[in-house]
Amino acid sequence: MKGTVMRSTGSFYDVLAEDGKKYNCRVRGKIRLEGIKETNPVAVGDYVIIDLEHEIGSITEILPRHNHILRQSVKKTGHSHVLAANIDQALLVVTLALPRTSLGFIDRFLVSAEAYRIPQIIIFNKRDLLVEEEAIYVNQLINLYESIGVTCFSTSAHQDDLVEVRKILQNKVTLIAGHSGVGKSTLLNRIAPTISQAVGDISTFSEKGMHTTTFAEMFPLDNKTYVIDTPGVKEWGLVEMSEQELSDYFPEMRDLRLECKFGARCIHINEPKCAIIDAVQNEKIAISRYQSYYSMVLGEDNRK
Ligand code: GDP
Ligand code: ZN
Repeated sequence: MKGTVMRSTGSFYDVLAEDGKKYNCRVRGKIRLEGIKETNPVAVGDYVIIDLEHEIGSITEILPRHNHILRQSVKKTGHSHVLAANIDQALLVVTLALPRTSLGFIDRFLVSAEAYRIPQIIIFNKRDLLVEEEAIYVNQLINLYESIGVTCFSTSAHQDDLVEVRKILQNKVTLIAGHSGVGKSTLLNRIAPTISQAVGDISTFSEKGMHTTTFAEMFPLDNKTYVIDTPGVKEWGLVEMSEQELSDYFPEMRDLRLECKFGARCIHINEPKCAIIDAVQNEKIAISRYQSYYSMVLGEDNRK
């Protein structure tokens, strides 16, 4: 029978099968997926074939993925595991109220998603807590991010009906990320009260530090709409990229960089006749975006 992996604990998996039931499964035998060297390759979001002959189901096959993202190892061992697979879009919840999200964090998230070719959405939440200047600033940020192809919303999870947000999630698998406390659970509660209990549990769980390792978990909003919660995941493993490649994942730099005097060798830091630096000086590229780019090239940590 076919099914979708909803939850993983590392050795057991909850699989939502075609018959609408959830089965607890293990991996039996060796499963290999082309191009992936993993001892334990099954990830949340995977479509799998399960065998229910025995008391505990077993996953016998992973169906081809249309994408997957890696999670960076916490201990910097160089190991990474697949965090989730078959994602249609990534939603980042941020706020300029507390806990305030930095632009560096937002830009890193967008670059990660862009590197995996996953469309991005940003929700600027807690609008009701902003003073007027902050609200104006949010609108400027929305203009900036929409100009580079990101879908944006300004919300109050306490006041809004969130119809537009629900619409964009419809019939898709959406990975949801954001710092703890920005309002992810509150937003999901408003959008889909049926899953609120489960998501609420997860947040409290990880806040108490009971999860030593965090795993992604998938929740159905209806039978075609899913969200994947990634508690505690601050950053995805970036696909390996060189300095020269990085500007490829900044949409406003992608085409422009071809005009640099040094062409593909330019890393847009201090080279002469650099089209990117010119564009920053002419305000065609936002300074905040260039600062994020600069920090990433220099390997600085601007993740907070
Ligand atoms: P999560 O950790 O991202 O899931 O954040 P929560 O949903 O648990 O929200 C953290 C706190 O922020 C809770 O006390 C919420 O009631 C509050 N909160 C969430 N969204 C909003 C909002 O739009 N406005 C206000 N004023 N508070 C919010
Ligand atoms: Zn350049």
